[in-house]
Amino acid sequence: MTVCPECQGQVSLPDTAMAAEIVVCEDCSSELEVVAVDPPVLALAPEVEEDWGE
Ligand SMILES: [Zn+2]
Repeated sequence: MTVCPECQGQVSLPDTAMAAEIVVCEDCSSELEVVAVDPPVLALAPEVEEDWGE
């Protein structure tokens, strides 16, 4: 269980969660990137639309 960086709500990570995985906050529907799993750290996933820069 960790905290959503967007709404401070509690987000439960699946046991199978891995770093760089995307989870969705049930409270605010934000896409969150799993930065680390031990301890669990979430960050707001960047909302890019296939724009990888140049
Ligand atoms: Zn949230």
